[in-house]
Amino acid sequence: MADKIGVFICTGYGIAEALDVEALVKVVTEERGVPFCRTVESCEGSDLAEIIRDIEAEELDKVVIAGISGRCDEVTVFPANVIVEKVALREHVVWCQPPGEEDTQMLAEDYLRMYIAKIEKMKPVEPFQPEDEIDRTILVVGGGVTGLTSALAAARTGYEVRLVEQADRLGGRLADQYKSVPTRPPYRELEDTGIETLIAEVEGHPRIKVYKSAETGGITGAPGLFDVTLRASGRDRSAPEIVDEFRVGAVVQATGWRPSDPREHLSYGQVPDVILNVDLERMVKEQGRITRPSDGRSVKSIAFIQCGGSRDPDHHSYCSSICCLTSLKQAMYLRESDDQAKAFIFYEFIRTPAQYEDFYRRAQEDPGVFLTRGDVTDVARDDTGDLMVSVNDTMLGEQIRVKVDLVVLAAGMQPNSADGEAIRAFEEAKVTAEDGESEIQRQDAADKVEKLRHHEGTEILNLAYRQGPDLPVLEFGFPDSHFICFPYESRRTGIYPAGAVRQPMDGVASRDDALGAALKAIQCVEMTARGEAVHPRAGDTSHPDFFLQRCTQCKRCTEECPFGVLNEDEKGTPLLEVTRCRRCGVCMGACPERIVSFQDYSVEIVAAMIKAVDVPDEFEEKPRILALMCENDAMPALDLAGRRRLHLNPHVRVVPVRCLGSVNVEWINQAVSMGFDGVLLIGCKYGDDNQCHFIKGSELAHSRGDNIREKLEKMALESQRVELHQFQISDYETLPGIFDDFVEVIEEIGMNPFKGM
Ligand code: SF4
Ligand code: SF4
Repeated sequence: MADKIGVFICTGYGIAEALDVEALVKVVTEERGVPFCRTVESCEGSDLAEIIRDIEAEELDKVVIAGISGRCDEVTVFPANVIVEKVALREHVVWCQPPGEEDTQMLAEDYLRMYIAKIEKMKPVEPFQPEDEIDRTILVVGGGVTGLTSALAAARTGYEVRLVEQADRLGGRLADQYKSVPTRPPYRELEDTGIETLIAEVEGHPRIKVYKSAETGGITGAPGLFDVTLRASGRDRSAPEIVDEFRVGAVVQATGWRPSDPREHLSYGQVPDVILNVDLERMVKEQGRITRPSDGRSVKSIAFIQCGGSRDPDHHSYCSSICCLTSLKQAMYLRESDDQAKAFIFYEFIRTPAQYEDFYRRAQEDPGVFLTRGDVTDVARDDTGDLMVSVNDTMLGEQIRVKVDLVVLAAGMQPNSADGEAIRAFEEAKVTAEDGESEIQRQDAADKVEKLRHHEGTEILNLAYRQGPDLPVLEFGFPDSHFICFPYESRRTGIYPAGAVRQPMDGVASRDDALGAALKAIQCVEMTARGEAVHPRAGDTSHPDFFLQRCTQCKRCTEECPFGVLNEDEKGTPLLEVTRCRRCGVCMGACPERIVSFQDYSVEIVAAMIKAVDVPDEFEEKPRILALMCENDAMPALDLAGRRRLHLNPHVRVVPVRCLGSVNVEWINQAVSMGFDGVLLIGCKYGDDNQCHFIKGSELAHSRGDNIREKLEKMALESQRVELHQFQISDYETLPGIFDDFVEVIEEIGMNPFKGM
């Protein structure tokens, strides 16, 4: 039996004043043949309750509600299995067009046609349920402060946890620390690290199983169904000793950091009494006093040199966030052990955010701590074995020289997900790209920079993913995430980096981060168990279906899926791991055979929406523009423009898409063939600093643009008829200008010659 469709048209919100509602009803009933159409005063509160009663009484299967935007209304639970689509007549028509005009009416009628066509093609969504039961165990990789905190949080919430630590003891770098910087008022006194208590709690928790001297030898599968092999760490990897095998639902990667290698900076590696801050920390923890590595003599003076490689355009351009505090703390170690000792701290800027400023003040008050803003140019050993530090004092404008027993470099943090060699090659290439001797050398180096920018990691997780064994990383080796909207996410669904592996952070921030990652992991297993997607389409139960009988094994979908969902068999046929999927539709946009579809989003559904538009003929002089706009930023921006009553060009018909990467070229072909005069594609800004919500969907759409332009040229059409825009929600005020400018371009080049054919 055919699905019963119903349409509700709201007359409130100024709709009845701006539009001919009777004419709208005629479009629904007479033109589109919808058997049930009712006008209602609003689509909120008691009117909405009435709509729901009608849906039940009329036994409607599919419903279009034309009123306010779905992003503005209250959270509504419609009867189960009823498909509901909202048309934002208020925001997208009435609030952005002059009332009573022909163009305003045409726009409203087209939106009704488009959404009726859409709903006709949509199918009920069945949440994905794998054959095996979803496992809710959380695997935590890394037994430092972040991993321990994450494991404990998940266990206390009621989840089973497996914690894996590569070393033979827990605690990570915090266990090497003598004291912590103050975390409690009045923020002046050093504190115990508290790591022993945390370790004891984890080891004593009945829901946490700890593996020491172990590492992840392999992780196959997908969220809810990850199969993990643990092997003994540090052994011969060609004949690994398997420690255990088990299934988990989600993974927290808390694999921490290592000090960045300062290379030969300021005689490091050449003079034994030039050491790193981590070396000093370990020394104090182990022997309770500070001595010179060269001769074991007690140290009376130390020069702490800040930003040892950090915030340096030729090295790590980022701030490692903890080094200033560490030097202040270590100056306290020296002063507390010997009130005659002297600590010199040479810095460019001291960074001690928030309440840590009080700790900085305490150091400033200490007569034995000398804080000097300056540029250290040299560290040399004199005949007596002491070290002479030369500094350009930028405050006094003088060159000063200070004799000390020991030099401590504040080495920055490098995530353990970074391949040190690749980072070094990347940094060197960056320098050559700028300062290389010849143009060829600079160009070669620039190419190398691009190649190394997203180098893969260090086989920590050993994921069995087609795209590689680790989380994809950004230029300095930190795992990629959407740092604006959802920082805990990675490009591998169900795997959450936390702590200093994610970005430089101190112990306090690492504990907070650990809680966030534990919650994300829990959220992932619970949503996966309900068949729902996680961020950014959280709660979406649709999932892609591949009609593989027609697959040509072209591998475009497997290569372009931003989340590594698709592995492939030996012939190249995609193998879908549904619970990894974020439902972006990039595979649908990529597939030339158009065999990928979702129950509620497909090439066919969007094509039906485009086809439903009533395109005026060439004599009416009313251009028609199709705007395919991303639901993440562009569509909410359209709502905002409407709410702010900005006037939008009435010749544009907007179709929301999950991601610009989901746009199938077929839609553009179809639009152009049926007489649309131009197509706008509006998606997220892309690149590392402005990530598309689906990582590279927007970028892919831009690279596919060449293909589109080629097709247009084959049809003897101007390539300017398709325009792509990178857009973010805060740009909503520019949307009217984008529409108007494009319509102007189209008016200049003339109407589409295919109109009316
Ligand atoms: S491209 Fe997107 S929708 Fe397709 S399989 Fe990958 S994550 Fe899922
Ligand atoms: S893009 Fe389409 S045809 Fe190509 S491998 Fe994927 S499903 Fe098969």
